[in-house]
Amino acid sequence: MARHDALLRLHKTLTTRRDELLKRLGTDLEDLAHVKHSSGSGDPADAAFDSAGEELSSQLAELESRELAQIERAINQLKKGVYGQCEGCQMKIPVARLNVLPYSTLCIKCQREVEQDSNWLAERRGANWESLTDGTPGEDREVRLSDLEMDYSK
Ligand SMILES: [Zn+2]
Repeated sequence: MARHDALLRLHKTLTTRRDELLKRLGTDLEDLAHVKHSSGSGDPADAAFDSAGEELSSQLAELESRELAQIERAINQLKKGVYGQCEGCQMKIPVARLNVLPYSTLCIKCQREVEQDSNWLAERRGANWESLTDGTPGEDREVRLSDLEMDYSK
């Protein structure tokens, strides 16, 4: 039952993360409102800066709401008991990977395929494939919110 226990832990992680995101999204939307509010100095440079900031805020909010949607989906899958199954090959996603990416719907192998060919999943979806051994988790090259935040300061 190790996997079952791990999934229970992940459920807690997911709901915590969801609450965090909901809070952050709320803050972003407040920032967005503030940016809108502070523009109107009449200076075209200021206006351009405001609109760039606005765009960044809405991009961040979009990224967060996308993550939120993935989390909600994972929580739903947990409730239905289908969580942790790879959409690409129907195999169980290793708990080690789920611990790193709790809302992942693909095993590492399938994730790599999708990164190389965005149509790959659509072609494979529903097909049953032989199980293949997984690589090490943590090799994932996911875009993380922290990466995005680093770009901000440039
Ligand atoms: Zn897979």
